[in-house]
Amino acid sequence: MNLILLGPPGAGKGTQAKRLEARFGIVQISTGDMLRAEVAVGSEVGLLARAVMEAGQLVSDDILIRMLGNRIARPDCVPGFILDGFPRTVPQAVALDRLLAERGLRLDAVIEMRVDAPALVERIAGRFTCAKCGAGYHDTFKRPKVEGVCDICGSRDFVRRADDNRETVQARLDAYARQTAPILPHYAAQGLLHQVDGMADIDAVTAEIVAVLDGLAATRAA
Ligand code: ADP
Ligand code: ADP
Ligand code: ZN
Repeated sequence: MNLILLGPPGAGKGTQAKRLEARFGIVQISTGDMLRAEVAVGSEVGLLARAVMEAGQLVSDDILIRMLGNRIARPDCVPGFILDGFPRTVPQAVALDRLLAERGLRLDAVIEMRVDAPALVERIAGRFTCAKCGAGYHDTFKRPKVEGVCDICGSRDFVRRADDNRETVQARLDAYARQTAPILPHYAAQGLLHQVDGMADIDAVTAEIVAVLDGLAATRAA
């Protein structure tokens, strides 16, 4: 099963992708995580991407399309993948169609997570992650069960993203509205688009996505 999770920054894509990964045995592909890893090692791509990301703008389509093409060719993608943060522009969506067709693959669903702007700002401002395993948390909505200790791996090291501040958030929301939202009709026209209420709590959102995916499986079996 090959999915896209689509939604503005802070919508909960990463949170849900990790849950779907575990449930369906498919791999999360987060282009934001991939870019942050490039920045961390100071690669050529990382050097190009760093300032763009900190300004809340989008890194160039060429870089992202190349990166994604290499990533979906890896063997762990064979059972399926969840794209989290890609595509983000119409040219990326068109390139993805071509990449999949070349490999004889197709998308099963595009899930749009709808969350209003004030909630996005609040989610992004309170977001932090485990430095060791990448598990996601929130100051208000998802604190670790034991204060200061990661639920998943027990680490005590947490990190906040350089671009998760109130100043950059507005630029990222604008980039979503201007450059990413225009890809929704692309997937609606292919009959792949499903909307879920991203304002609900984390478990309820998971349940709604799983219901959509189970519905697809049932339709296909019929
Ligand atoms: P995205 O990957 O779309 O940018 P994340 O999954 O990182 O979003 O979620 C952003 C922040 O909001 C995180 O701190 C996460 O713990 C929190 N969060 C995710 N889903 C919900 C939800 N349904 N309700 C409240 N907070 C949420
Ligand atoms: P969020 O879900 O909170 O918006 P991501 O981790 O997906 O954050 O992305 C962080 C930043 O990485 C983006 O603001 C952008 O600069 C860059 N980025 C990630 N994916 C893409 C993409 N597909 N195209 C262009 N830039 C991207
Ligand atoms: Zn951890």
